[in-house]
Amino acid sequence: MPSRTKERNPARLAVRDVNPKHKSKRVIIAIDGPAGAGKSTIARMVAQKLGILYIDTGAMYRALTLKALREGVDCSDERTLSALLKKTRIDLVYAQDGALRVFLDNEDVSADIRKPQITRFVSDVAKVPGVRKQMLLLQRRLGMKSSCILDGRDIGTVVFPHAEKKFFLDANFKERVGRRHKELQLTGQKVSFQDVEKDLSNRDTIDSTRACAPLKKAPDAIYVDTTDMTINEVVETLLGYIESSSR
Ligand code: C5P
Repeated sequence: MPSRTKERNPARLAVRDVNPKHKSKRVIIAIDGPAGAGKSTIARMVAQKLGILYIDTGAMYRALTLKALREGVDCSDERTLSALLKKTRIDLVYAQDGALRVFLDNEDVSADIRKPQITRFVSDVAKVPGVRKQMLLLQRRLGMKSSCILDGRDIGTVVFPHAEKKFFLDANFKERVGRRHKELQLTGQKVSFQDVEKDLSNRDTIDSTRACAPLKKAPDAIYVDTTDMTINEVVETLLGYIESSSR
């Protein structure tokens, strides 16, 4: 269980170590893109290489969705969802090996938040303006603490529009479905290819058409189509851009 801190804000991040290169200047790197484009894998690996913090903003929306479903809250009820988030504590805690554990009110929910039921409703919760408003403040506060990479849908456009480096990771739809399907199978979840296809299509639509902070590429973000790239190639590509601009 994560230890309690005296902060008033319920969200807390445990920072591992920070590369000396980034100690003097706080650096923010934004990675946005649709589900299955490889954002979290890539963000985690780039963060590890640079020795900076990785903030998975999708995990924060997933944790709130889990709580809402457990408490029987209607996922379109803005007032109740916003009130629920106000009394919720979300911790992102990083193990030595870089693995992320997500705690909801001090309970480890890392596996629960990846279940299909949560994935089905998370975009409905995430489109609620009152929820996004609070998450925005929370994410900004977390990002102010040290150099970090955040991945999500609105990081480069809304959360950190002045991020030092912005990327938009994409891949064609079939490839994204295939990756997500494989990932779920590896974690022992029995979901059909068609169900994953339906889920991604549904989330793509909700995330990119919502009125508040929709998924879109920031004009100054670097677009990377990862369809035919290996994970290492994407990591090296991003590191190349990051390092060329820090020289
Ligand atoms: O990244 P992940 O697929 O775990 O995100 C789950 C959902 O959370 C997304 O489909 C989206 O609806 C929402 N999200 C968001 N803004 C973010 C991160 C995630 O709306 N910055």
